Amino acid sequence: MIPAVIRTSGANLGNSTLSVPLPYIAHFDLDAFFVEVEILKNPSLRGQPLIVGGSSARGVVTTCSYEARVFGVRSAMPMGKALQLCPQALVLPGARHDYSHYSRQVTDIIAAAAPLFEKASIDEFYVDLTGMDRFHDVYAWTIQLRESITRQTGLPISFGLSSNKLVAKMATNEAKPNGYLYIPHGQEAAFLAPLPIGRMPGVGPHAERRLLELGITTLGELSCYPSQALSSLLGCWAEELRRRACGHHEGEVKPYHVAKSVSTEHTFEANISDADFLLSELLRMTEKIAAQVRARNLMAGCIAVKLRHPSFETATRQLSIPYTFFDDELIPFARELFLKLYQPGTPVRLLGVRLSELTAQAQQTNLFSDPLRKSGLYRAIDDVRARFGKDALTRGGTLQGKV
Ligand SMILES: [Mg+2]
Repeated sequence: MIPAVIRTSGANLGNSTLSVPLPYIAHFDLDAFFVEVEILKNPSLRGQPLIVGGSSARGVVTTCSYEARVFGVRSAMPMGKALQLCPQALVLPGARHDYSHYSRQVTDIIAAAAPLFEKASIDEFYVDLTGMDRFHDVYAWTIQLRESITRQTGLPISFGLSSNKLVAKMATNEAKPNGYLYIPHGQEAAFLAPLPIGRMPGVGPHAERRLLELGITTLGELSCYPSQALSSLLGCWAEELRRRACGHHEGEVKPYHVAKSVSTEHTFEANISDADFLLSELLRMTEKIAAQVRARNLMAGCIAVKLRHPSFETATRQLSIPYTFFDDELIPFARELFLKLYQPGTPVRLLGVRLSELTAQAQQTNLFSDPLRKSGLYRAIDDVRARFGKDALTRGGTLQGKV
């Protein structure tokens, strides 16, 4: 049993030396998450080169096992190329429902142990353990939490522990797979110094190439490069990048449960008892908030529908769903909830829909088996609506009331 963390304000202890607690941030990342879930479902897959992704001609690698990575297979690679590199790999289509289930299980374990954490994506978490060193050995506690996650779920997970989010995440990357790494306070710059510049989040291939042209190959070299020369190359990003290369970062752990929903509701001028009309309204509203979720690069794991009757009696129902931001996947759930709530012929005064359990989608572990095609379609729809108005493109069912 992991002792729960008690958060206290240093000022309450009446000791000025304790008034500024030492920051501790742990970053947890499940290793090859989708592949590991597939192995949990079918243990005979262990040790084989596995690829999760779309098998069609336009399919893309979502993620792959370490055995496939040996052959050069990488996330986001076209499936055709991946199979050229590793023809013996087994391609699995992916099971979003199962991934969502295990992601929630890990979230629940972390939530039960830690008071402040951020779910950065379906398989990635930041835990703020600042001030905990007064009560526990922070490093030992974090190791215990990792063991607890693996014992309860069967999934391998790595962590990095440090004074800030950036160094913690980079420590996790160095610890993978299935490992952990603690960078003590004051050791951040020394840890980063020998790492290649491309390991720094935010340094893309373009910036990396330009830095290499200057002869900067490691983060240590970047941290002591003359700032003026760096600024002329990278502009205002240069100073921030140099600070990061020294191990400085101010990003805060964003609490999981705060403002993590989007919703919309509509009060009708006259009470409505036409189910088809109500359904088409619900569909339109769901499309609207799904677009907001997509615009924020998030996915929703829960949908709720609300009905208010002329008596002001309000009924709400919600449903946990596989994480998604696609209208065509959300709408059937909205419809299902509406049909459970609605008594045919009853007048409705207000209709509402909410998407919650919002979580970011990690780029390296795209949750969708054919992400480029479907995400691209939705991005095009959102762009057209942004440029020409929300009614520029309308789903057939919105007009016809058929959901
Ligand atoms: Mg991961």
